[in-house]
Amino acid sequence: MQTFKSAKDAALTLRPDVPVYCFRPAVLTADAERFMAAFPGDTAYAVKTNGEPMVLETLSRAGVRIFDVASPGEFEAVRAAQPDAEMLYMHPVKAQSDIRLALETYGIRVMSLDHEDEVVKILRVVRALDLDPGKITLFIRIQTKGSAAYELSKKFGAAPAHAVELLQRCHRIGFKVGICFHVGSQIEDPDTYERALASADWVRNRADVPLAGIDVGGGFPAEYGHDPRRRKKEMPGFGAIMTRLTADMEEWGFSDMPMVAEPGRVVVARAFSLIVRVLLRKGKRLYINDGIWASLSDSWTGKITLPARFIPDPARQSRNGDPANIQAFKVCGATCDSVDILSRPFWLPETVDTGDWIEIGHIGAYSLSLRTRFNGFYPDTFVEVETPFDEGDAAESYASLETMAD
Ligand SMILES: *Cc1c(COP(=O)(O)O)cnc(C)c1O
Repeated sequence: MQTFKSAKDAALTLRPDVPVYCFRPAVLTADAERFMAAFPGDTAYAVKTNGEPMVLETLSRAGVRIFDVASPGEFEAVRAAQPDAEMLYMHPVKAQSDIRLALETYGIRVMSLDHEDEVVKILRVVRALDLDPGKITLFIRIQTKGSAAYELSKKFGAAPAHAVELLQRCHRIGFKVGICFHVGSQIEDPDTYERALASADWVRNRADVPLAGIDVGGGFPAEYGHDPRRRKKEMPGFGAIMTRLTADMEEWGFSDMPMVAEPGRVVVARAFSLIVRVLLRKGKRLYINDGIWASLSDSWTGKITLPARFIPDPARQSRNGDPANIQAFKVCGATCDSVDILSRPFWLPETVDTGDWIEIGHIGAYSLSLRTRFNGFYPDTFVEVETPFDEGDAAESYASLETMAD
């Protein structure tokens, strides 16, 4: 992989017509280390956020030893990056053949579930392989109510009384049991984890079985941009969320048992930016070479404003307008699909034109892991970049990074 000091250097040297992912291993290492230092238990990286080999290998070197996985493809990616890594198979609804693969081939001994039929599936495989259930930990996923940009708690999770039953049932069979939840992604309200812990406490007290651990899932917010027309939302910073979570775990009496977190977004978001090219400017619209079917689906939902930086093409002879005048541009994606238009504008100098590049920052999470081959477009070009996106050349930076209180 070629290395450049900044994405701007990469753009001006390569003059790319295809989207280029700028990987920053030092930033990934720093953000992983920051998480591990702040969270008082084990850190299991959520592979679905970005499972590229370069990410998993860099995390391994940074000391991440545990990975949250959900499919055979993820088992394999983790095994390839770190042969002796521990994997937590935290998908509550699994194919029986995948449970078998996990237990037999990958040596996975931690799983989650939210229904008794899943217990039956797991038990069938455990018996067939003649395994000791006492060597396996089953986390019962409980329902939570939260306030996250992406509310994921509606799809999975047992209601409290049901969770009590599941804990007791699994304990009776001889499995080790724990409680887990996942509050959604990019949480905005620090009370979210406390509400989930309160619910976990209720379940624990009713179940009255020994607990092997508590897993608080992911959801930790990453830093993104903000729309200059709107009032800046007061977002709690990572430090504030973590201080609060640690205090809540202590207060609800979970800090004396093994604790696990499964961060994704907060670990990997800052580690990538993306250089896209303006293929055409039409009035206040920019047609770019990426879009919602490639790297930008996470921003398409409208819940996240990505920070952006303008990289003008020096080969362009004439420009209209004042470079100091920052305007909102509607951004249209590369495919012929009419929904392929970003829901939030990019704020750029009014001089932006066909052939220029835009660097989109903090795009490491849920971007390239969600690429499709729709319409024949599949961005797959990578370079390494040394300077963090938010430390770029200020004079040409139009990134409106939300500075979160720490
Ligand atoms: C997606 C997911 C995560 C990671 O969530 P982030 O918001 O990216 O931190 C963690 N745990 C589970 C069970 C998930 O599904």
